[in-house]
Amino acid sequence: MPPEFLIVGSGLTGATIARTLADNGRSVLVLERRPFLGGNVADTLHPCGVHMSRYGPHYFRTSSSATWAFVNRFAAFRPFEAVVQSRVRGRCENWPVAASYIRRTVGASWSPEFRGAPTNFEEAALALMPRAIYEDFVRGYTEKQWGRPAHALAADLCRRFDVRADDNPRLTPDRRVQGLPSRGYSDMIEQMLAGIPVRLNCDFLRRRDEFRWRELLVFTGPIDAFFDNALGRLAYRGQHRATTYLPDTRWALPCGQVNEPAADVPHIRTIEWKHMLPAAEADRIAGTLLTTECPCTPTAPDDYEYPFPDEPNRRLYERYRALADRDSNVLICGRLGEYRYYDMDQAIERAQSLARQILTTERPAHEFADAIR
Ligand SMILES: Cc1cc2nc3c(=O)[nH]c(=O)nc-3n(C[C@H](O)[C@H](O)[C@H](O)COP(=O)(O)OP(=O)(O)OC[C@H]3O[C@@H](n4cnc5c(N)ncnc54)[C@H](O)[C@@H]3O)c2cc1C
Repeated sequence: MPPEFLIVGSGLTGATIARTLADNGRSVLVLERRPFLGGNVADTLHPCGVHMSRYGPHYFRTSSSATWAFVNRFAAFRPFEAVVQSRVRGRCENWPVAASYIRRTVGASWSPEFRGAPTNFEEAALALMPRAIYEDFVRGYTEKQWGRPAHALAADLCRRFDVRADDNPRLTPDRRVQGLPSRGYSDMIEQMLAGIPVRLNCDFLRRRDEFRWRELLVFTGPIDAFFDNALGRLAYRGQHRATTYLPDTRWALPCGQVNEPAADVPHIRTIEWKHMLPAAEADRIAGTLLTTECPCTPTAPDDYEYPFPDEPNRRLYERYRALADRDSNVLICGRLGEYRYYDMDQAIERAQSLARQILTTERPAHEFADAIR
């Protein structure tokens, strides 16, 4: 008999929905196109003994006790708080920029160069920080990341920036708990899906006719691909990654992530994975492992990372969403299905909320539409 729910995608969204439905006695089958579980949070063990994420570093943080309890069902977490620095004129400086750095370079009192309602990223940044800081730390990084001039990018991209009133080096001091799963995210997802049938190497879109379900299809891949790109392709940015093992170097960087805002350096950041291990474990690793990330415009869906934050793409997404809302057989969700960036805790909370609706609502799917917007 077909399962009640067919879940396409084993990332955090698909795995959370599958787990929640299975916990409530519902039958679920998960399909995953890649040969491994976990989607964008998947990791792998390098032969030198270090766990590294396949798609960039993933720092788990949340202020929700319920979300923390949920992930701790499937993984033991060790405490870890990300510390990031930016290389400016050859020196690694705190990111977000330390208050003492601003005092030293710009002076104790400065006033924003831009006032009023910002209409683009550059104006939003200049409303937050002195121009010298923007030019040294932000402009080059942002323009490399998005491949567009900062004045052509949306103002609300700036909402993730923080200008510090102190020298606290922690990246996200406002979150109540932060950590990393001791055995990695792939293992955590495997535990989440324990007891649930999963088919790897299975691209649903190429094999639609083979699968049946009794209640609902939950699709967590790209929404445009689900409709065969009928209205055009949504744009993404991604990163080319190059990983190098240095057998004779104990430590290469002062912290786990060093950003490279200079416009003439092609990559935007370097990750040194050993910094994410407990000190005693890091000590036992010979050499060190580095990954550099260089932004690009991906064409293969497995390389899609950041939805492109501009008006034409937002409008195109809305047209796809309208198509999805008409079909009561399918719920298209997750970072690719909703074409928006979710931190991991947000992706889990969103998925739990959708699963609760699935369990309590007599569909049709347009009932989900408000939750998706
Ligand atoms: C570079 C980067 C760094 C990040 N760092 C952090 C961080 O430090 N902290 C944090 O909280 N969050 C971070 N995130 C966010 C985090 O990755 C997401 O919250 C999370 O991946 C969302 O999971 P998802 O299931 O919605 O999407 P995905 O993980 O993309 O899962 C979708 C799954 O669907 C599968 N799929 C797609 N199409 C098909 C198909 N046709 N058939 C079968 N399977 C299909 C895919 O293979 C994939 O496994 C980061 C994101 C990026 C891009």
